[in-house]
Amino acid sequence: MAQGKFFITAAIPYVNAAPHLGHALEIIQADVTARYAKLIGHEVCFLTGADENSLKNVQSADKEGITPQQLCDQNSAKFRQLYRDLNISLNIFQRGTDQKKHWPGVYKLWQALEESGDIYKGKYAGYYCVGCEAFYQAGELKNGKLCPEHATPLEWIEEENYFFRLSRYQEALQHLIQSDEYKIIPSFRKNEILTFLNEGLQDFSISRSKKRARSWGIPVPGDPDQIIYVWIDALDIYMTGIGFGWDEANFAKWWPADLHVIGKGIIRFHALFWPALLMSAKLPLPRNLFVHGYITHGDQKMSKSLGNVVDPFPLIHKYGIDPLRYFLLSQIPAYQDGDFTEEKMRSAYQADLANGLGNLVSRVATLCEKSNLDLLKTDISLSETCPRYHATLKSFNFNLSLGLLWEQIREIDRFIDQKKPWELLQKGSPEIGKVLQAAVDEIRKIGLLLAPFLPQTALKIQDQFKNPKIKVQPSLFPRL
Ligand SMILES: [Zn+2]
Repeated sequence: MAQGKFFITAAIPYVNAAPHLGHALEIIQADVTARYAKLIGHEVCFLTGADENSLKNVQSADKEGITPQQLCDQNSAKFRQLYRDLNISLNIFQRGTDQKKHWPGVYKLWQALEESGDIYKGKYAGYYCVGCEAFYQAGELKNGKLCPEHATPLEWIEEENYFFRLSRYQEALQHLIQSDEYKIIPSFRKNEILTFLNEGLQDFSISRSKKRARSWGIPVPGDPDQIIYVWIDALDIYMTGIGFGWDEANFAKWWPADLHVIGKGIIRFHALFWPALLMSAKLPLPRNLFVHGYITHGDQKMSKSLGNVVDPFPLIHKYGIDPLRYFLLSQIPAYQDGDFTEEKMRSAYQADLANGLGNLVSRVATLCEKSNLDLLKTDISLSETCPRYHATLKSFNFNLSLGLLWEQIREIDRFIDQKKPWELLQKGSPEIGKVLQAAVDEIRKIGLLLAPFLPQTALKIQDQFKNPKIKVQPSLFPRL
């Protein structure tokens, strides 16, 4: 993170259905990074949006008997609601159907690609999966005829489309990624992409016939019979949301992105297609790409067909915002897949929140209130806090950052067990002041460092421990 401005994005999800727990994981991870960037002094812009021009949305709307626009309105609203309910510090939510703030930037990007001579018309043939919005070749199909991702039967499609000369950017991309000029984190994802690059890049189709797109989406400038490939339009949301095509001053202020946060399934689009499009359009390139794993449910992939998709809203309602944030950040290792079950959620709540942090805070506050002492306000400087904390946040190892904080919580508990302040209090020993001051200083530090992760809890702790006379407050995490 360079000093000054920090522009962060979370992936732009398809809104063909309501959000599930996987969407919560990603937006929370991005939110921690956005809040951390603010904490260390950056001016932050945090963007996501809705990928609305997909054929999937047309098909889902058909099933529900509504128009694609109604479906997008309804589901985009659910995503926004989720972000509010999770206390996400989002600045911009840019929708793909927004003809004022999104479409002009899509036309602008298309024209820039055309001016570079990177768009040509060609014939496309392949097996098309609507679920993936991607073509497959025969060798890639499951059992010779099914989508490798969705296991659905695929249709052979042949049509005239516009192509983008991706092959022209092979060497430039190799250099960009190898050198970490565009840094892919974790490094095993970088290696995956470099391996894929070594096999050689093919040009790819960036439009669809209007018929196949069911007339839904953004028309190709100058050729209304073709619709712009939804991926081009969705990636462009990262730029149109901050003004590309309609507020160039704001765009110049924030672009390029310091960080794109995405799931492992869409890495090629972000690591290869996106920087190639930007190079062709002669626009600055994003700096970092963080790729997270997926949430499984009972060790199975979450999917609608398995009927095990987890709805985040009832979990927020039942456990609270910060407990859900805590679970996803501490129990799902950020680089890997991790499992969710409600049992695991309950046990993390009891052990780490109710018995761990909650108990420590009420224990120390009770002793302070009984002592009736005036405690000093000590200044906590972020630069003097544990360097490992900062290192784990800069590498997106959120579970490790929380592990460090909980190590500290246990440490303070041990310190109190050892010093027995209740005995000092009874004896009227002057040492009590020193012991409580030390414990309070450590809790204040935790209140500060916890802020990017559990913002509400951090505020409550900061508030409870800010005055010289510390009082008992209602428990942070009531027992379930
Ligand atoms: Zn598929």
